[in-house]
Amino acid sequence: MKIGTHSFEEYLDRVQAFHGSVAPGMLAGGIMVTIARERLPEGEIFDVISESGHCLPDAVQLLTPCTIGNGWLRIVNTGRYALILYNKYTGFGVRVYLDAQKLAGFPAVRGWFLRELPKPEQDLDAIVQEFRSAGPDIFGVQKVRVKPEHIQGLKKVHAAIAICPVCKEAYTSDLGDTCPACRGTAPFLVVQDGGAAGS
Ligand SMILES: [Zn+2]
Repeated sequence: MKIGTHSFEEYLDRVQAFHGSVAPGMLAGGIMVTIARERLPEGEIFDVISESGHCLPDAVQLLTPCTIGNGWLRIVNTGRYALILYNKYTGFGVRVYLDAQKLAGFPAVRGWFLRELPKPEQDLDAIVQEFRSAGPDIFGVQKVRVKPEHIQGLKKVHAAIAICPVCKEAYTSDLGDTCPACRGTAPFLVVQDGGAAGS
């Protein structure tokens, strides 16, 4: 089968270059994107929701114009291995998921997906071969409508920018009277402050 416009082999090369390794989740994601796109109307302008933050977002970013950065791809973590491609205005679209009920004949994929085998014991070559031979057969498809509150195209509201009275950096004022970082949610501690980046 083709993955997007690529042969399976070409896709493996692209995954290596983009993702850093041929991760099983990138194979699943590539097939999932391909399945979903085949079911969307030709020329549809779509957004994507990934239900997992692992691998799937990178498969979407490799194969479609949708990225986290441009906002056309978002992660809504349900802990499930699924992607939704949907019309960015109406919300109607296709959900594709890796179906745990269909893995009986695919022990290597099963061992990886259900974490039945610790990573060192997983056979990547066998996983690749099983994904190649299974193709779309181990995935489920649903027609869905994304809820309005999750449709990006409907909410183009941009909050005003304020200067945080504590750190003096600009932030979006809808997040409170000071920036969230100055209320304790910064993911880091400053080791040394001062100096312009260009100096
Ligand atoms: Zn601040």
